Amino acid sequence: MMTHKSRIMKEQSLDPENWHQMRKLGHQVIDDVIDLLCNIGHVPVWNEVPHEVKNTLSTDLPQFPTTANDVYVEFLRTILPYPKGNIHPRFFAWVQGGGTPLGAFADLLASAMNPNVTIGEHSAMYVDQQVVKWCKQLMGFPETSSGLLVSGGSMANITALTVARNHKAGYDVRTNGLYGSPAALVLYCSVETHSCVLKAAEILGLGKNSVRLIGVDKQYRIKIKDLEKQIQTDLKTGFSPFCVVATVGTVNTGAIDPLKSIRDICRTYQLWFHIDGAYGAPAKLTGSHKQRLRYIEDADSVAFDLHKWFQAPYEAGCVLIKDQEVHRAAFSFTPKYLMNEMEGLAGGLDPITNYGFELSRGFKALKVWMSFKEHGIKKITRQIVQNLRQAKHLGLLITRNPELELMAPISLSIVCYRFIRQGISQSEANALNRELLIKLQVSGIASPSSTILGGAYCIRVCILNHRTKTSDIELLVAQSIKIGYSISEAIK
Ligand SMILES: *Cc1c(COP(=O)(O)O)cnc(C)c1O
Repeated sequence: MMTHKSRIMKEQSLDPENWHQMRKLGHQVIDDVIDLLCNIGHVPVWNEVPHEVKNTLSTDLPQFPTTANDVYVEFLRTILPYPKGNIHPRFFAWVQGGGTPLGAFADLLASAMNPNVTIGEHSAMYVDQQVVKWCKQLMGFPETSSGLLVSGGSMANITALTVARNHKAGYDVRTNGLYGSPAALVLYCSVETHSCVLKAAEILGLGKNSVRLIGVDKQYRIKIKDLEKQIQTDLKTGFSPFCVVATVGTVNTGAIDPLKSIRDICRTYQLWFHIDGAYGAPAKLTGSHKQRLRYIEDADSVAFDLHKWFQAPYEAGCVLIKDQEVHRAAFSFTPKYLMNEMEGLAGGLDPITNYGFELSRGFKALKVWMSFKEHGIKKITRQIVQNLRQAKHLGLLITRNPELELMAPISLSIVCYRFIRQGISQSEANALNRELLIKLQVSGIASPSSTILGGAYCIRVCILNHRTKTSDIELLVAQSIKIGYSISEAIK
């Protein structure tokens, strides 16, 4: 029986009243996306968000409807023109991928299907598992290992470290927490390790003090002798070493820790061997790095990003765990409302939530699935090789130019350099290079970032973009010299 109220209230949904108009808008969106991407090299890399725009982007919660068209027009006016810039060929900051057009389409399709990819018998579950299978093949992990797609390297690392902690603790951490620990668990990594490993140690209840930050050699790799010495000291003084984190591609300089030695130490002391390959692990596919990186296959776990060198649009990362049962033992949890069945909607694969913390998960697998199919791994590998070559070329140009100084060895695709003038002090050089970097960014010419190595302020270039050309590298060098001179003339 209908109540009085439901009779007078028109039922609504959030779908458009006019599908024809929405279709037209959709076509316009796709046209604008293509225009954006095919012209990206011809616009400034970056420009600051104007105050007026910042103001419109801080107004209060909207109460009443605006047409979809008007919302889109506002997006075109206030959001699209002020990008971070990482889809541009001369974006060199941090470690950022460039995305692809089909990847963007995949995100649209994934959002339209909008499956919650965690449990159930539906296609997205199989796509997710197929992409995980491909990830195992990329890293040379066995089919029997397990894996999880996550938002990125940070989540991948904390997921692996959770498994490592629970497995190596020697008691039931899930029941007793760290109170059950007879000795403080400690893990090892170099001072160049990404901050997410320290954050993970904090969140896992281990605390920063349980992270032994080992020093690095001239190539910014962990000092193996110091690592082993620290493990022995900890064993003697009542700590409980459980894990070594090796980095393949440090964020500062792209250094690769000596994997074979770390593996051997882990075997000797029965520690979990984890690799943070968020940035550098994809280089395993290339001829130049295949040998050195084959030890990734010996790790208990590896974290790597799909939104960096594999060019998936943000966000997508992957963690692989060698022993599937150990992985599941860290996360499986079946409340009554999440039981899966042999058949029907709740049938199918093992719920993905048994392998990580998240329950609701988007269909991030689709953009990876479509991109790997579109290009094939051979072409994607050539893309990585191209970036490695471009980094070498940049290194060569720097060493050939007396005005520039190469500040760290090039292991992958990160190049750190600075502009130098004879007779200026370290602090003058630092100020000069800071200004040079800002000028490069503000002019929209190129967007490197910075770091400090041995007290020296460096311009840090990470070449990770499939759109970057050798001419972009050459332009960066020429402009660095030109701007460097103009600043140092002004100082004199
Ligand atoms: C980028 C990066 C991370 C963090 O990954 P996110 O995808 O940003 O969460 C961790 N370690 C290294 C070495 C990285 O380069």
